Amino acid sequence: MEDCIFCQMIAGEMDSEIVYEDEEVIAFKDIEPQAPVHFLIIPKKHIPTLLDLQEGDKELVGHIYQVAAQLAQQEGIAEDGFRIVSNCKEAGGQTVYHIHYHLLGGRNLQWPPG
Ligand code: 5GP
Ligand code: ZN
Repeated sequence: MEDCIFCQMIAGEMDSEIVYEDEEVIAFKDIEPQAPVHFLIIPKKHIPTLLDLQEGDKELVGHIYQVAAQLAQQEGIAEDGFRIVSNCKEAGGQTVYHIHYHLLGGRNLQWPPG
């Protein structure tokens, strides 16, 4: 997907601070961090929204959560707690149409979100 900035990031065509990478996913620092720890965990496969997930993507989504938990441990936010968020489409606040999971932590997060 040539016009997808996250696919460009995966291809190494864009600057990003990658904090984790394996065959299936990468995680990198959000360019506009909303908390002391703010990473985006994304599949390497281009999937536009959560609504486009297929039966065969079940393991991939589970893997993303495992990577998130591992990164939370590494960043020292696991004990206090953290948040995983995935926005879906316009009303959900999605701005990049390649699914991603925000890992937020390092401060007390408010609920409900705005
Ligand atoms: P969404 O609004 O779709 O849930 O989240 C998209 C996220 O991607 C935003 O938090 C935004 O700051 C981040 N983002 C957008 N463009 C870039 C970029 O070029 N580099 C990085 N590292 N993050 C980006
Ligand atoms: Zn993409």
